[in-house]
Amino acid sequence: MENYETYEYDVLIIGAGGAGLRAVIAAREAGCSVGVVCKSLLGKAHTVMAEGGVAAALNNMTSPDGQKEGDSWKVHFTDTMKGGGFLNNWRTVEIFAKEAPERVLELEQYGAVFDRTPLGDIAQRPFGGHKYRRLNHVGDRTGLELIRTLQDKAVGVGMNVHMEVTLCRLLKDGDRVVGAFGYYRETGKFVVFRAKAVVLATGGWGRMYKFTSNSWEGTGDGLQMAYEAGADLMDMEMIQFHPTGMAWPPGMRGILVTEGVRGEGGILLNNKNERFMFNPEYTPALYKGQFAETPEEGDRWLTDKKNNRRPPELLTRDVVARAIYREVEAGRGTEHKAVELTVSHRGEDYIKRKLPSMYEQFHALGDVDITKQPMEVYPTIHYTMGGVWAEPETCSTTVPGLFAAGEVAAGLHGANRLGGNSLSDIIVFGRRAGAGAAAYAKQATAGAIDPAQIESEIEILMSPLETKGGENPYKIHQELQEIMQTNAMIARTEKGLQEALAKILELQGRAKHMSVPGDREFNPGWHAARDLRFMLRTSEVIVLCAIERKESRGAQWRLDYAEKDDAFWGKRNLIASLQGDAVRITQRPLPEMPEELKQVVEEYK
Ligand SMILES: Cc1cc2nc3c(=O)[nH]c(=O)nc-3n(C[C@H](O)[C@H](O)[C@H](O)COP(=O)(O)OP(=O)(O)OC[C@H]3O[C@@H](n4cnc5c(N)ncnc54)[C@H](O)[C@@H]3O)c2cc1C
Repeated sequence: MENYETYEYDVLIIGAGGAGLRAVIAAREAGCSVGVVCKSLLGKAHTVMAEGGVAAALNNMTSPDGQKEGDSWKVHFTDTMKGGGFLNNWRTVEIFAKEAPERVLELEQYGAVFDRTPLGDIAQRPFGGHKYRRLNHVGDRTGLELIRTLQDKAVGVGMNVHMEVTLCRLLKDGDRVVGAFGYYRETGKFVVFRAKAVVLATGGWGRMYKFTSNSWEGTGDGLQMAYEAGADLMDMEMIQFHPTGMAWPPGMRGILVTEGVRGEGGILLNNKNERFMFNPEYTPALYKGQFAETPEEGDRWLTDKKNNRRPPELLTRDVVARAIYREVEAGRGTEHKAVELTVSHRGEDYIKRKLPSMYEQFHALGDVDITKQPMEVYPTIHYTMGGVWAEPETCSTTVPGLFAAGEVAAGLHGANRLGGNSLSDIIVFGRRAGAGAAAYAKQATAGAIDPAQIESEIEILMSPLETKGGENPYKIHQELQEIMQTNAMIARTEKGLQEALAKILELQGRAKHMSVPGDREFNPGWHAARDLRFMLRTSEVIVLCAIERKESRGAQWRLDYAEKDDAFWGKRNLIASLQGDAVRITQRPLPEMPEELKQVVEEYK
């Protein structure tokens, strides 16, 4: 076996997005040595791409009569549970809604500069499913400000950063996670990290779909590493289809168009020039009577948010995505199988000030001037609500020594995430995971590294370089994206999902015999081969869970089980675990919500 570098820390943090960086700060403040590893450069995670804002009930906004809108953690709690189809873990949501305001104000103390209200408070914008204006923002570049701030602070408290390293195996000593193994992307050299505790903050996985807002990093490696180490995964069928991805030009399909456009008054139109979201059939029973019923009423909301109901373009993402899908399927879409989103009525100055990135994105990529022309949009794979099960207080997983926070973890968002709730998720639970891991590390000894586990990972890594005349990983990836996009996308059926499963199993077989030319240096094909094995396993779990859940709730829309089944499925999470080499899916009863929180929901729902 060749030599490899070894680093040793109290706490190893895998991922340098918002969750990872907030965990670094907490673990350092607890006095631990910390190493953080990321697949690309520091600062280049999905967090930096976030646009619309970070949700927290600061209650800064006032109506024309000068009164505060009335937001509170209780309303945020209720909106999040309701938006998630009540599949969320109530305790995770309670912690989240209570702590989010404190974490946002802390960002400000670290140096974040948010947009302001005329009174000088942090400005908040409306987003789908949030009863009040709740998204604290910096134009449409909130993620950039968040990552800049956290990065500055993390550098200040001291961390060792290992950039452009892909980790691909968690190392165990008995039941416990004691480190991780991977390779430098540039040189292909292997590297070992030994740690008393590990925080997984590796983000989501959209790349097994053809059209996604996710970058090349979203291949779900962290999820699979945890799964292979024995962690439970929860609600993996819940993949968010954001209603508005770019639909044209073809090369740009899937790139996100922030919900901030609708939050700033953008409207959706079909090819008959109708604001189709006003079709009452599209508003689910839970939201009946809460949204404007005519475009005129929706328009009045733009100037007086307290005394008018919001337009239904601001219904939750699952609802709006399904409506767009239906419009296009009914032949009421554009020639590019999309609908129009227009915000030009807000005026050039306003658009350039509030949505500068959207203005530039459409100008540069689509030759469209959004101050004058509509955008063509269609749902895109955006976010993963399911993931590694993590206990709410410390973010510990079912595997000792392993903690998970951010998009890789499950429990907060249930069946559908509200926009803005991810940025607050990563700062609330990033902090808790860092503190939880530090507390664990302080009472733990360093575990033993088992060379056999490293050897077995090296065998997997080297196989495509040593196999001649095998399959091309890019070709398999393309076939995976086709089947997931067609059969495991927004509208699902048993038949389509079974076809997808059969195809995934076939691709898994073929992926055992992949070939990649060249060697380990500067070899993207070699990276793609490892990423693909992770994506194939994740796709299998997504499809199995989507088959198992025989109802429609949030992101899971089954054409053959079109109704929500509150009595049975509304009371169950789906858990996936690895049994030998096979996937085991079980149903787990949702924890019972305490009486006082039930009353909160009753009052604010
Ligand atoms: C275009 C876009 C716009 C968005 N807008 C908003 C918004 O306005 N509001 C909101 O709340 N949410 C928004 N989201 C969602 C939100 O940005 C993400 O959910 C959130 O930032 C995830 O943070 P994270 O720290 O969990 O993961 P990420 O920010 O994705 O970071 C993951 C980290 O893990 C590392 N990593 C991954 N795999 C490995 C590996 N194998 N080895 C080593 N390192 C690894 C990556 O390099 C990266 O550093 C948006 C998302 C996108 C894509």
